[in-house]
Amino acid sequence: MLRTLSIVAVIALAISAVLACGQASTQPQDVGARAVAALVGPDGSGMGVVTLTQTHHGVLIAAEVEGLSPGGHGFHIHTVGTCSPDFAAAGDHFNPGDVGHGYNNPAGVHAGDLPNIYANADGAARADYFTAAVTLDVDVDHSLFDADGSAIIIHENPDTYGEDAGAGGRVACGVITRY
Ligand code: ZN
Repeated sequence: MLRTLSIVAVIALAISAVLACGQASTQPQDVGARAVAALVGPDGSGMGVVTLTQTHHGVLIAAEVEGLSPGGHGFHIHTVGTCSPDFAAAGDHFNPGDVGHGYNNPAGVHAGDLPNIYANADGAARADYFTAAVTLDVDVDHSLFDADGSAIIIHENPDTYGEDAGAGGRVACGVITRY
């Protein structure tokens, strides 16, 4: 009996470890919570807005961007909520699970990894994303509102989705702010 119980306990622990690694809390406390990131370029000019909404299942992210070069651009959540003194201050990708980068990497993916955004010939881009890897809830694992906040970064080049993002410089940044 004791042996059966301890096996069950080990399995339960293993399952919760997998959940903790791969996604945020499965039961958001603050459904309907919203946040926004006002994007600016390196010269401080406005480049659009990203809106984040907590749903029952994860976070919906709507991006409306302008002023990009035509073509694909890496689009990520970075780990520090600041864009100054320059965009490097936003740090690396949001990665509370401390895992590898990239959808095509067996050791991935960062919670802050998102698919590329594609700008048209005028430099405008529009995208909706959905991810269960982050949450707008506070004081929980994978919260975008941990002690140092978080930011949206758009890169010069598309993300390779491999172990090395290869997306180049940072062309837009916005601090994610709840409202
Ligand atoms: Zn990035």
